[in-house]
Amino acid sequence: MSARQTGDKDLMTGRFANIIVDISHEKVDRPFQYRIPDTLLGKLEVGMAVMIPFGLGNKRIKGYVMEITDQAQYAEEKLKMVDSVVEGGISAQGDSLRLAWWIRENYGSTMIAALKTVLPVKRKVKQVVKKTIVRKVGADAAAAKAAEFEAKHQGAKARLMQELAAQPALPQLLVTGKLHISSQTIQSLCKADLIEVKAEETYRSALPQTLSGADGWKRKEKRQLSENQGKIVDSILADFRAGVYRTYLLHGVTGSGKTEVYMELIQQVIAEGRQAIVLIPEIALTYQTLVRFYQRFGDRVSVMNSRLSAGERSDQYERAARGDIDIMIGPRSALFTPFVRLGLVIMDEEHEGSYKSEGMPKYHAREVAGELCRMKGASLVLGSATPSIESYYRAVKGEIRMFVLRERLAGGQLPRVYVEDLRSELKSGNRSIFSRRLQGLIGDRLKKGEQTMLFINRRGYAGFVSCRACGHVMKCPHCDVSLSEHADRSRRISRLVCHYCGYEVPGVTGCPACGSKYILGFRAGTQQIEELLHREFPAARVLRMDADTTRSKDSYEQILSQFAGGEADILVGTQMIVKGHDFARVTLVGILAADMSLHAGDYRAGERTFQLLTQAAGRAGRGVLPGEVVIQTYQPEHYAVVHAADQDYEGFYREEISYRELMMYPPVAHMMAVLVLSEEEQAGAGRAGKLVEQTKQQFADRRPVVVGPTEASIGKINDVYRFVFYIKHREYQVLTDIRDALEQTIHAMRWNADSVQFDFDPMNSY
Ligand code: ADP
Ligand code: ZN
Ligand code: ZN
Repeated sequence: MSARQTGDKDLMTGRFANIIVDISHEKVDRPFQYRIPDTLLGKLEVGMAVMIPFGLGNKRIKGYVMEITDQAQYAEEKLKMVDSVVEGGISAQGDSLRLAWWIRENYGSTMIAALKTVLPVKRKVKQVVKKTIVRKVGADAAAAKAAEFEAKHQGAKARLMQELAAQPALPQLLVTGKLHISSQTIQSLCKADLIEVKAEETYRSALPQTLSGADGWKRKEKRQLSENQGKIVDSILADFRAGVYRTYLLHGVTGSGKTEVYMELIQQVIAEGRQAIVLIPEIALTYQTLVRFYQRFGDRVSVMNSRLSAGERSDQYERAARGDIDIMIGPRSALFTPFVRLGLVIMDEEHEGSYKSEGMPKYHAREVAGELCRMKGASLVLGSATPSIESYYRAVKGEIRMFVLRERLAGGQLPRVYVEDLRSELKSGNRSIFSRRLQGLIGDRLKKGEQTMLFINRRGYAGFVSCRACGHVMKCPHCDVSLSEHADRSRRISRLVCHYCGYEVPGVTGCPACGSKYILGFRAGTQQIEELLHREFPAARVLRMDADTTRSKDSYEQILSQFAGGEADILVGTQMIVKGHDFARVTLVGILAADMSLHAGDYRAGERTFQLLTQAAGRAGRGVLPGEVVIQTYQPEHYAVVHAADQDYEGFYREEISYRELMMYPPVAHMMAVLVLSEEEQAGAGRAGKLVEQTKQQFADRRPVVVGPTEASIGKINDVYRFVFYIKHREYQVLTDIRDALEQTIHAMRWNADSVQFDFDPMNSY
């Protein structure tokens, strides 16, 4: 364990340890006090993992030391004794503990769940031992010995000494493998004092094979920054050097040079002896991105991602704690890299939904990053082409400072965008998935040998119902979100349900607005589109990317590189294709059903749609050839579609924020979802109702807005029934107060801690 911070030091002398046990349950969600045995006095540290006797049977379980003190809470002789320190257990640093408390307080979970979140690596995995065979004599002597062995017909010894005459050391694996030299031979040469075997513990590399090879990457010098980039870097660094640690929003389209700004900031921060964490959504963490960082910073960089083995992860964690690296790149969990001198956190594509954890605790990495930076004294830089409404709102209010990068640097202009109204396509008799404009342009690209990407927007698809003739969408009158179709399979009667408040109407057979019979969901999938393409453009070579075709390892990268290599004319895919690679020959992007994500049935639908459309459109015209984009929609007048077509973020923001203001949705107010789980339907409904009643009575003077309870949109998972209600209030604190009050009830009623889950400012509806 590395050097402790002062402050914790004085605590280490105590005779008692307050310990959180490794059980996630309300009843044990508090520290328990233990006596420290003489053998461990002065050896325990805050954050250490220990074994302790627990419960009636004194079973040995794991726990984490929260505090060491001389203050006994009970009569000393009644306290049980700490058993031992967990061998190879990872200790939490003081900062991690504080961060865990903060997460527990802000999102509601047990302390142990919060602790496990900030300790992404649970235990050390033994390091790999690498053995090298080194000669103990000079090159000439080795050559002479080789000749000697040769003369005595000792072929193996001769071969090894010959190799060692050429180079002073060889990996043992090479010697026993490729050179076919037995360990007896090695031993006998060791005895003759001609060679020795050196063992060295090495860290597993987290780099892709091609990078970690000795000459897999070439170091690149930095670029000359543009004037605008330079100014941004200077302002942030001026704050940093003055000890002012703030949050910044870097708003710039893809290709406007944000990554160059990040790298320059990192370099300067490292020069000051500090360290940096770079957060990237897992799906965008591509080989290309890594290469750029390695080219600039070499092996001072490491990476965390879900594909690493436990050993690889543990090693990266260890290297960071020891200060062997300066930069950690990775998704959400990379935030918990144990850097001692953290100076900078970068969060690229900060609007991405994957930064919110959907497990327990349901934390948002952006907010946790903010708290981490406050604790550590570090700057936080958020970057995006389409900032989250939350961040932009804070920038408008002046809480965070915003910088804008407007132009693409590597050439390429913004594409020309067409919005095609599918209602009028239907009117003129075109029932195909492709509008006439899109068909024409695809044909044109095939003729020219240029590439096309077709994107089907299936994100958040939740069975919304809209009219194909007039575009009318069935909405909840109370919540202003789309109603979702729930089909009752046994009776084949469908209902339309609001996921927030439970409002319900029977399924409709005709459009309430225009009377048309074409009122239904848009249900085309990627496979269907692929088939249609084959029919309409028999000569076209088509690749498809979706959950089906990317199941095997590396298939995602494979499809993208096939397409980049020109092995296909058209790539059809879900939102997976919007990220990552740059394709210079893509000059046409078709967005087949822009509406899909508009009707996900939650208040973020407009924001998500705008982001997806803007990103998808940005895929066209990345090279020298100009690009065109076709957005197909039933709602060409929807503000998310209109502003995405114009690539006008500010315009979109103005309309979106007034909607949130009107409906009291985040970030204008805060919203807490409370999910109640139970194996018995009655009991679940009863509990949800009870918690709602308590909220309304106990907090009447704070006037929270309570919506529900209702059955969740997925009412049952694995035989567990799910009920949900929402509470809105302008002050976050009121929501955490309500949460605390509800937790007391949960505790008093002895319900399982995990049976009620809290989600603050949720990303989805339940
Ligand atoms: P973003 O992160 O906003 O997508 P990048 O930093 O990746 O933008 O920059 C886009 C392209 O422009 C890259 O190829 C990058 O090398 C290049 N680039 C960035 N800054 C400069 C600069 N100052 N001069 C020349 N090229 C630049
Ligand atoms: Zn209609
Ligand atoms: Zn509603």
